[in-house]
Amino acid sequence: MTTELSPDALSGLLDRARQDYEALVGRGLSLDLTRGKPAPEQLDLSGELLALPGTRFSAADGTDVRNYGGLHGLPELREIFAEVLQVPVAQLLAAGNSSLELMHDCLVHALLSVVPGAESRWVEQERIAFLCPVPGYDRHFALCERFGIDMIPVPMTPEGPDMDAVERLVAEDPSVKGIWCVPKYSNPDGVSYSDATVARLAAMPTAAPDFRIFWDNAYAVHHLTDEPVEIADLLGACADAGHPDRAFVFGSTSKITAAGAGVAFFGSSPANVTWLLANNAKRSIGPDKINQLRHVLFLKDADGVRAHMEGQRALLQPKFEAVARILDAELGGTGLATWTSPRGGYFVTLQVPDGCAKEVVRRAAEAGIVLTPAGATHPYGDDPRDAVIRIAPSYPGLAELEQAIEGLAVCVRLVGYEQRAR
Ligand code: PMP
Repeated sequence: MTTELSPDALSGLLDRARQDYEALVGRGLSLDLTRGKPAPEQLDLSGELLALPGTRFSAADGTDVRNYGGLHGLPELREIFAEVLQVPVAQLLAAGNSSLELMHDCLVHALLSVVPGAESRWVEQERIAFLCPVPGYDRHFALCERFGIDMIPVPMTPEGPDMDAVERLVAEDPSVKGIWCVPKYSNPDGVSYSDATVARLAAMPTAAPDFRIFWDNAYAVHHLTDEPVEIADLLGACADAGHPDRAFVFGSTSKITAAGAGVAFFGSSPANVTWLLANNAKRSIGPDKINQLRHVLFLKDADGVRAHMEGQRALLQPKFEAVARILDAELGGTGLATWTSPRGGYFVTLQVPDGCAKEVVRRAAEAGIVLTPAGATHPYGDDPRDAVIRIAPSYPGLAELEQAIEGLAVCVRLVGYEQRAR
């Protein structure tokens, strides 16, 4: 991304960037672009939830939702999300309030009890490794670190992970037990997996008989355009390819209704569902069915989910447009950055010259603009090129967001031109 500049031109640009940065610091901003949290107005769209289920306490089959039991979750809620998550109702569980928690539990259960197809518990193996498409979601990587699972980075492409690399790694090494995938509008680069990628993931031979794809479909209905992206059905493809137990599908309503107070889902083969239920039965006497009923009454059906997400989009789209507009105006043609234009999800990935991301984040923090730490998008917090910055535009108000992105662009110019001048 280098553009040739004469020494004079570079020195002029650097002077201007320094002045702009000084002015930025002088403004004493306090802005936060760190995490992909819904804004209060987005949460307001689900305001009615809080009044539900009112005095109603019986589910469609007469179950009293106020009482213990029902480990599968309410069938009527599972029906709504079966379509959204591409999992047959019978193979979909509605669980607690967090899909990350389900991913954590699946890892722990796989470590401590034999997953279908495995010869032994993962904890008994000398080494366990997961493939980590990069850039990726830091909390996936944190789970691996927590449990001593080695992480092997695999580059992302516009169609999903580099499948040549994935196929080679899973074929040759039986300690590679899993891969993290955010298949639609991925966190953080907004990529959606192509049909060919899904087919290859389902069909590829793996040295580990108990290989699992952690399919974190967190942004299944989180579109930002009129042309929703649809991805291929991984669970069905795995079954068709003779690997029915390969996919663990996760999702939640955290960024549909209330973050941290929604409902999480797990979908998989009948054998895996039985395995998880048997493990879950030890840790819980049943999920929060009152919250599940509340969600049924509020969302009604899959069309209801889609209609609700149109409201979310109306709030989010202008923010993503503002990010694109400002980056284009401030950094377009400088050769100092490229950025993604996601068609959905929660993030924009900004790529700066190698060796600059940490410094940009540091300078932004000094100017009162807090960003996700550089490196967080990579295993062990280590982006070897130090080039990726994740922008989370959802939470701040539009005016604040604009200030933050303008400020960020100043920092990119400052650090980028300083590097070139060295
Ligand atoms: N997966 C991804 C890819 C996410 O971006 C997030 C939220 N940032 C989560 C999972 C967390 O989901 P939950 O609230 O259901 O635990």
